Amino acid sequence: MEQIKAARGSTLRCKGWRQEALLRMLENVLENGENQKELVVYAALGKAARNWPSYRAIVDALKTLDEDETLVIQSGKPIGVFKTHRFAPIVIMANCNLVGKWATSDNFYELEQKGLIMWGGLTAGAWQYIGSQGVIQGTYEIFSAIARKYFDGDLTGRFILTAGLGGMGGAQTLAGVMANAAILCVEVDEARVDKRLSVGYLQKKTRDLDEALHWIEQAVAKKESISVGLVGNAADIYTKILERGIVPDIVTDQTSAHDLVYGYVPEGYTLEEVKQARINNPKQLEQDARASIAKEVKAMLAFKQKGSVVFDNGNNIRTQAYQHGVKEAFEIDIFTEAFLRPLFCRAIGPFRWVALSGDVEDIKKIDQFILDEFKENEIITNWIRLAHRYIPVEGLPARIAWFGHGERSKLALAVNQMVREGSLSGPIAFSRDHLDAAAMTHPNIMTERMKDSSDAIADWPLLNAMLNCSSMADLVAIHSGGGGYTGYMTSAGVTVVADGTQETELRLKHTLDNDTGLGVLRYADAGYSEALDEVDKKGIKRIQTT
Ligand code: NAD
Repeated sequence: MEQIKAARGSTLRCKGWRQEALLRMLENVLENGENQKELVVYAALGKAARNWPSYRAIVDALKTLDEDETLVIQSGKPIGVFKTHRFAPIVIMANCNLVGKWATSDNFYELEQKGLIMWGGLTAGAWQYIGSQGVIQGTYEIFSAIARKYFDGDLTGRFILTAGLGGMGGAQTLAGVMANAAILCVEVDEARVDKRLSVGYLQKKTRDLDEALHWIEQAVAKKESISVGLVGNAADIYTKILERGIVPDIVTDQTSAHDLVYGYVPEGYTLEEVKQARINNPKQLEQDARASIAKEVKAMLAFKQKGSVVFDNGNNIRTQAYQHGVKEAFEIDIFTEAFLRPLFCRAIGPFRWVALSGDVEDIKKIDQFILDEFKENEIITNWIRLAHRYIPVEGLPARIAWFGHGERSKLALAVNQMVREGSLSGPIAFSRDHLDAAAMTHPNIMTERMKDSSDAIADWPLLNAMLNCSSMADLVAIHSGGGGYTGYMTSAGVTVVADGTQETELRLKHTLDNDTGLGVLRYADAGYSEALDEVDKKGIKRIQTT
């Protein structure tokens, strides 16, 4: 089978850059993905298209789409092309949305097997995934927030224990090194460890716990940063480390614990045995995975008791353990509430852009522009310097940076001008993770313990998607959970292409400002003082009813 790789250069296969951009974004998520043969991009089963016929039909549709038409996609399958107008999105999609009572993982797996639905993860199904970089600044900001809160602002000489080196989890080791820590990551699949080594996200690999701990101890003693990938099962290794009386400074996990059939590997299973069990005995596999997760979470709770800073990094691991009887599982903090919410209140979140020509110089020029023009923003300038130094290119060159309200459109408009003047090699696609201020309701991740108890209200991401359509975005997506996430989350994704035209200035300004503006209002509505302050400072039009 042909290997999909995003097209580079300036030759268009579509009738315009906006269509070509989305086609390259689709190809790029597959180029960067974990298992292209199955169209799987990340998060166990997070796919870019429902199946290969759907993929090919999407490509054909994008190639023939006029500027005043909109392609409609349902769970990774193209449904039809509609006459709209040149300011309407080029693509709209809804992935994996089941209505309340039917949103169970059993229903999801059944419909998935029948080929009727697809779990699009967040950025997989909406063609916005940029490799492990997509989550790396978030992970780095979490480590930095922990450093500020618990370790006098510095993780030098600190030991982080985590697990999972998949599409997203693979960012943890590099983020740990960027934060000057010694980080040990347990990964059951050796091929994933090798992949992170080969792309420069990981420094060392071993199959031996003693060797791994020796490297970590040495680095801690010398106050050096190091990243170690240990081939093993997290449930087993966390327990062994605990039994040895070692207490890491920080403990988390980013295995695919949200999915008990295609994700988390139970202790005692080989990868081959997991494959067989998926076919022959998925119920047993699910039970065993949950039991292993419970064991791992018990170890995490014990680490917490002994003084480690322990947090859930967005994979539903606490919920799975809770359902297996670990009633204290929710004593572990969720990263969003514990560390990132003050940023989300100001709609500071995972904004990203992709150089569609494939020219890495475009990213470097934008980096330099940011260092010159956003000097007062220390989060950003610190990050851009680190990213420049540490982050390898994966697929089409891209950058992530946590910009907030007004800053995103300021950057995008300047970049559009650079495209127009020819100082960049080609157009730039702007996008963001769905884990953004207005864009996600997930009561166990993004919206846990909201101040006004509005945790489960999914109106926000739906409004967000509709507002982005009204604001002339090029792609708008509404997603809900798959696998173990089914019934847990709803989110919205958006992409807008800076093609250098005057007309696009409107798209960029309205989409990016309205996207973040609604984010600030979502937190203002819940009563967060940072959001209310942002409303005042940035002059966002808020209607107060009480
Ligand atoms: P992935 O499926 O690409 O990788 C998961 C990895 O975990 C795999 O490499 C797998 O081999 C490994 N693994 C499974 N069971 C294990 C075990 N028992 N011990 C050790 N390793 C094991 O998934 P991903 O894209 O890396 O995402 C991981 C999780 O993070 C998912 O649940 C995802 O939804 C969540 N996530 C969180 C954020 C965030 O912002 N915090 C963002 C994206 C994804």
